[in-house]
Amino acid sequence: MKKRILLCAMIGVVLLSVVAATLIVLHFRADCEVDLTTADFDLLMQQTSDPADTLWTQDVTDVSIGNYLDSTEESTTTEPTTTIMPTGRQFCVISAPFADTWSGLASDDTFTPMCTTLVQGTVDYITGQSRVYDEEEKEWRDFYLLASGRKVLIEAVQLLSPDYNYGDNSIQIVSSETNNGNQIIRFKSAWNAPYTFEFSGQNYYEKNGKHYFVNAFTADKIQFTFYHTTKAEGSVNIGSNAIVTNAYWTVDTANKTASLTMPLRVVGQYYGYTMQREADGTLVLTLKKKPGGIAGARIMLDPGHGGKDPGALGFGGAVAESQVNFALAVATKQALERRGATVYFTRTDDVYLPLEDRKLIARQANPDVFISIHCNAAENKSRYGTSTYYFRPMSQPLASAVYQNVLAVYQTSLYAGDAERRAKVGENANFHPFSVTRLEECPSILIETGYVTNDRECTLLLSADNRARIGEGIAAGVAAYLNAG
Ligand SMILES: [Zn+2]
Repeated sequence: MKKRILLCAMIGVVLLSVVAATLIVLHFRADCEVDLTTADFDLLMQQTSDPADTLWTQDVTDVSIGNYLDSTEESTTTEPTTTIMPTGRQFCVISAPFADTWSGLASDDTFTPMCTTLVQGTVDYITGQSRVYDEEEKEWRDFYLLASGRKVLIEAVQLLSPDYNYGDNSIQIVSSETNNGNQIIRFKSAWNAPYTFEFSGQNYYEKNGKHYFVNAFTADKIQFTFYHTTKAEGSVNIGSNAIVTNAYWTVDTANKTASLTMPLRVVGQYYGYTMQREADGTLVLTLKKKPGGIAGARIMLDPGHGGKDPGALGFGGAVAESQVNFALAVATKQALERRGATVYFTRTDDVYLPLEDRKLIARQANPDVFISIHCNAAENKSRYGTSTYYFRPMSQPLASAVYQNVLAVYQTSLYAGDAERRAKVGENANFHPFSVTRLEECPSILIETGYVTNDRECTLLLSADNRARIGEGIAAGVAAYLNAG
């Protein structure tokens, strides 16, 4: 139903813009990069990701906080625009290693858990162009609207030459196996059509104007849908796989979609997937097995902000959130290691790291769990409290466990003697589409440990003893999550 509404909205935009389109098309074509030829496309497909970066080595103990001077922020006020592409199909290929996708509505910056990340080499055709204000990055960003019903950043794709004009796609499972408990499925298709990943049996509810809060992770099926596709064949060898019970294709020839549906063996037990495309175009899907508990688990910690991006500022600019985050991450690392986990960092120094790079580092390290560590900020300096954030429903149980354990630290220790603060310090585990929580490879959450803009809470966070307590809380939450079930 959503797809139909979206389609109607897009058709509406097309009709309204039909007069303006011709003029804008000329502008658009002038802005295009050189189209990708067949040889360029082959070269792109042969690229492989850089080997693991040294950024996430584990020898991290240095901690320094304080004396950060504020930096001025620039903002632009460009108005949003929507451009509709000319007749004919202009195909494009995802050229970034991974490309986030946004809502298919032209002037909407929202994400839904159905906005699947597309892997390099994926091809779709463009139905329009739009400029949308990105609330998290605080900047205007330019998008292509894709025929599969979502938006993608212009810089994440390259246009293909007009030689590429694909017809209906067909897809086939060429092999499948269970390897070390993970289910691996290999697909070959006529061309690299786009896909989405969805859960079935998952209820969402609305809160604070956001539509994808969940009370629990209740999915009983997972489904990969391939677009522009009218034929699908091949079956999955389930074998000793503990993740799904079977797999079956459903082809909708009217909408030209082919869906591979896989019922979960245990409701709510699902831990992410990785998608890779090999040089010959083979798409390799790996469903990840349940991690075996905290001992031996691989945890990636992401100290928020850094370098030219200090994050929120406390005490009139004397304290940078980035430095507090790093110190909290070190405390958390020590608490996790005491429980037998192996810990990786996205950054081990006070450097600026774009959000996309943080996710790329996570995808290379392929951890069991990803946690981004932040401090909160508010205009109202009296506001205090701790909260966690999930985006995909699979991450909600982790967000909830970490939240409960950090809340307990505040209530039984940091604010033990203050009844009012004890009562109000909890700001819950919430849905929010933070960029780093949009990973699909593993449960990923963001924690706001406390408010650096609240003098009393910031003072608490500046104490190494208190950071150790909060680190213990985070680690206890991760352990409770991984050891459950
Ligand atoms: Zn932050």
